[in-house]
Amino acid sequence: MTEIAARYRAVRERINRAAERAGREPDEVTLVAVTKTWPVEVVLAAYEAGLRHFGENRAEELAQKQTAVSAQLGPDSGVVWHQIGTLQSRKTRLAADHADWFHALDRPKIARRLSKRLTENGRFLPVLLEVNVSGEATKSGFLADRWETDSQQQAQLCKLVEEVMALPGLSLCGLMTMAPWQVSEMEIRQVFRRTRELARWLETAVSGLHLPYLSMGMTDDFEIAIEEGATHIRVGRALFGPRV
Ligand SMILES: *Cc1c(COP(=O)(O)O)cnc(C)c1O
Repeated sequence: MTEIAARYRAVRERINRAAERAGREPDEVTLVAVTKTWPVEVVLAAYEAGLRHFGENRAEELAQKQTAVSAQLGPDSGVVWHQIGTLQSRKTRLAADHADWFHALDRPKIARRLSKRLTENGRFLPVLLEVNVSGEATKSGFLADRWETDSQQQAQLCKLVEEVMALPGLSLCGLMTMAPWQVSEMEIRQVFRRTRELARWLETAVSGLHLPYLSMGMTDDFEIAIEEGATHIRVGRALFGPRV
């Protein structure tokens, strides 16, 4: 068994146990293998080991690997590419052309640019809104650190959501978040829980909105995320080892 296959098996075990603790089915959780900084050969080895969902945080890197992998494996490989990092305006075209999912929408301008390009190409992109519920200054994402009590923040969130929902070519279908660095397990859990609750609240606040997907959890915290309802976990180091 290759090293990636062994690591993949260990991660699957951890997913199964976390799902079991939470009374969930393991197949409710999509494992997105984060291949950033790793060459195409590593993506192909991961494919060989059975992985199908791949995540990149830079749009150029995603476009380049998506092109190379589809040239190798053909159009029916079942590979799904996730843009997991926020986009700059001038990178929206790359994501619109090459990504199958976008996890890190953080402002309406990006959604408008994606929508324009997607409709030109007749493509469709499921999109998750990245929210910063911890308020940590270094975190990306739309600020939602006081969404439970701050009516202004609630109004801003609803306005953004409504604007994105009105755009053709993309579908807002969930939330994404990142846990703060170096805090207790309790604080991490709180961030994931508040993100899940925010999704439920937004569904009641905005008519016609459905946010079934929650992208949360990385190598160090994906079990907590699964216990708190994650449907997508984004895992790099546990599958591929430390990035060089
Ligand atoms: C790098 C990255 C990950 C994966 O991190 P690991 O700690 O290697 O699992 C997940 N999400 C985003 C947005 C990332 O940039």
